[in-house]
Amino acid sequence: VETWTEAVASPTLNYQWLFQVKMSHNGLPINLPLEENVLREIVEKAKDWGLMHGVGIRPFDTMNPNTLTIAPHALFPTPVPRKDFDELIRLQPALNLLMHKVAHDHKFLEKALGNTVLHDEFTKRTYEIYETVRKEGFAQDVSLGMFRSDYLPDTVRSLYLQVEINTISTSIASLASHVTELQSYILGELGYSHLLENMPDNNSLHLMSLGLVKTWEYFGNEKAVVLFLTEDVTANICDQRFMEYEIRKIQPKIKVLRVKFSDSAKFRLGSKKELLVDDQEVAVVYYRTAYTPELYKKGDWETRLLIERSTAVKCPSVQYHLAGTKKVQQVLALPGVVEQFFEDPSEAKAIRKLFTELYSLDLNEEGDKAYNLAFQLPENYVLKPQREGGGNNIYGKEIPNFLQSLGKERQAYILMGLISPRPTQNYLVSRASGDLPALETVVSELGIYGVILGSSKEILTNYQAGHMLRSKLSTSNEGGLAVGSGFLDSPYLV
Ligand code: ADP
Ligand code: MG
Ligand code: MG
Repeated sequence: VETWTEAVASPTLNYQWLFQVKMSHNGLPINLPLEENVLREIVEKAKDWGLMHGVGIRPFDTMNPNTLTIAPHALFPTPVPRKDFDELIRLQPALNLLMHKVAHDHKFLEKALGNTVLHDEFTKRTYEIYETVRKEGFAQDVSLGMFRSDYLPDTVRSLYLQVEINTISTSIASLASHVTELQSYILGELGYSHLLENMPDNNSLHLMSLGLVKTWEYFGNEKAVVLFLTEDVTANICDQRFMEYEIRKIQPKIKVLRVKFSDSAKFRLGSKKELLVDDQEVAVVYYRTAYTPELYKKGDWETRLLIERSTAVKCPSVQYHLAGTKKVQQVLALPGVVEQFFEDPSEAKAIRKLFTELYSLDLNEEGDKAYNLAFQLPENYVLKPQREGGGNNIYGKEIPNFLQSLGKERQAYILMGLISPRPTQNYLVSRASGDLPALETVVSELGIYGVILGSSKEILTNYQAGHMLRSKLSTSNEGGLAVGSGFLDSPYLV
């Protein structure tokens, strides 16, 4: 279909095409497609600039430590309505505080996760660690949260709705800052520098790193280290290393150590429950692993418990980890629940507005209702287990069969209304895209970072910490960078 009239006349109305027409009326004021020679040259520039300024990853296939490749990214920024962007930024400290309060409300966690722990081994083991340290008394009552709340714009309601909030191993803060700079450079090179005023600065790298620095300062032992707890091999190495370099810039006295979660022999507790790694005391443990069962090998659960028992500040503490489960997200959306955590009703109202339909699949009337909904209109829903890192959800038509096969275990899942964002057009640059990527139809997920440091008694710091945008082909279900289908992007405010 080439024209509006043809599209409307066509027996199979091409909705994708209609969306594109709409998009060209409120999108980025750049004429697309680019001419072939312009595209070829700008992609070459994008890759060189990106590789030289930290928009890189280790190639997934080889993980060769001598090699970096360009991180998948969109060539142009993507339109995001300014009023939505400003509102989500404004709400982030309140969301940080909500997660903090949930994590410190034992009765709430116990009730919310009661059924889940019976049917999900990973949540159960995480919860057991929480119970062990809670009963012993937390050796460190301060936790560091480095969160990211993710949103998709819903076309029908014209609203940004929360996809999830991440409380463990929240990534891409460095890449997000760098890709904003990369896209600014691209706009400039193409003669669109007047558009830069609509690209908000993105200090996610600095602000997230600052969370670790502030925590180290709070800990108050100049000799203690900041520990990055890592996977055995790290594809997202630029994202992690730049935080390390940023910490060094902010506070040169800090020593950062990278230690593998699987190196269990390195960890021990001192006589006062200090966390010692190769006999160096640890001020902060920053988890860039441990968020999903595949990342735990033999002995790693014992290491997790040992760390949680220590006086080191954990990012996140096990209770923050639990507060970030999809089950907690669903429970918060029940009538009256999020409201319990806010004194100011207008704040609770603003937060509730971010929630889409979320249902439990417990074996009761409410769960049965959701179960039936999923059977009647599966294409309107996504089914989610208690997992992180992308690639774990069940979509649309696949839901009924999958649910049927689950039996009682369905209680470990939540059902969520599918959010349908309006697509835009962009070039997606990656190692695989070659020097002439095609103009693609993409949808974009906006993430807002937040940092909070505090205990059940006091909040020491709480701020919004930058943003990120991730685009994916509108035909793919998920857009995780780690699962290979996401492209770094940044907002262009309209
Ligand atoms: P994870 O913790 O694995 O990142 P998410 O809840 O973020 O889990 O889901 C992964 C991806 O699935 C999201 O980035 C998004 O692309 C897609 N997704 C999740 N929930 C929805 C939803 N309600 N509507 C549309 N897409 C969704
Ligand atoms: Mg997540
Ligand atoms: Mg996610």
